Amino acid sequence: MSTIPNVLEYKCPCCGAGLKFSGAEQKLSCEYCGNTFEVETVKEYNASLGRTDEQSVSWEDAPTEQWNDDEQSQMRSYICNSCGGEIITDDTTAATFCPYCENPAVLPGNVSGGLRPDAVIPFKTSKEDAQQAFLKLCKGKPLLPKDFTAKHRLEKITGIYVPFWLYECSGSIDSQYKATRTHHWSDAHYIYTKTDHYMLSRGASAQFDGIPMDGSSKMDDTIMESIEPFDMTQVVDFDTAYLSGFLADKYDVEAKSGEDRIRQRVDNTFTDLLSGSFVGYSSVVPTSRQLQVKHSKAKYVLLPVWMLHTKYQDKTYVFAMNGQTGKMTGTLPIDKKRQWGWFSLVTAAVTVAVTLIQLLGQ
Ligand SMILES: [Zn+2]
Ligand SMILES: [Zn+2]
Repeated sequence: MSTIPNVLEYKCPCCGAGLKFSGAEQKLSCEYCGNTFEVETVKEYNASLGRTDEQSVSWEDAPTEQWNDDEQSQMRSYICNSCGGEIITDDTTAATFCPYCENPAVLPGNVSGGLRPDAVIPFKTSKEDAQQAFLKLCKGKPLLPKDFTAKHRLEKITGIYVPFWLYECSGSIDSQYKATRTHHWSDAHYIYTKTDHYMLSRGASAQFDGIPMDGSSKMDDTIMESIEPFDMTQVVDFDTAYLSGFLADKYDVEAKSGEDRIRQRVDNTFTDLLSGSFVGYSSVVPTSRQLQVKHSKAKYVLLPVWMLHTKYQDKTYVFAMNGQTGKMTGTLPIDKKRQWGWFSLVTAAVTVAVTLIQLLGQ
């Protein structure tokens, strides 16, 4: 039998006061709130108090697959000397400008170093589809300058593969809580309140697949977010043949920098999952939690995007279309005069309505 020192060493799970060991009962009792406890329960509770929140992420392997010599000889890399972006494509496709900053000075070179993509979602839409989608976007826009459709120049439509990391991992959580259940009742003389204290322990584990993170700092995040989602079930193994006629942005965000994102995603999922398991308690307060993310793996995936650059009155407007689903995004120019015209028209309508109401009221 373990020896229990007769000192105020263990804290009462109910009120936090020091506990005393009662030899007769073989239990720990609290002189302050009057509760008695099994020794093991108190030990477990006190151990959980000492535990600090822990969260760790461990990696199985980071992607390491390199281009082979054959592939390297069939590919070109272009570096933009304005924004520093690097794009790659096969040797039958020429990059004549930077798809991000439009700088025409892109320097061709050989592909050296860098990882080979693991997978790709091939383009399912054509350049013509992108053009049609753009024209459709312009239709029925009352604030679009009248001459825009006639005068704008749809300068460039480029199919570009945007690098993404897709993470896979297994996560587990172990957490402890202090909970209470309170009941009230009364008789002719007294109102009674009974509070039961509980020490709760919860655990869960799950496998996570396909947590995405943008691997390019050059690609505008808001553009990417507005053309999502991509159907990740259509991911196929990468082959250089998919690059023909398209450009591919080279990742510049390392796979392991997604650690925070993975942890956050796993954490949120477990928090939602476990919160549903506390039914019927008056209060639940977490005392400690250990979150573990193991066997993290990253897949390097290329996603298809059409980038459209159009010029109107010397200003460039950028549009993007999801190359898989055809979802389109971008901001059209607004005619200030038409905006005012539109505004006064609405004001006039409101005035008429108000006048009518006044007339009716008379
Ligand atoms: Zn107590
Ligand atoms: Zn550039």
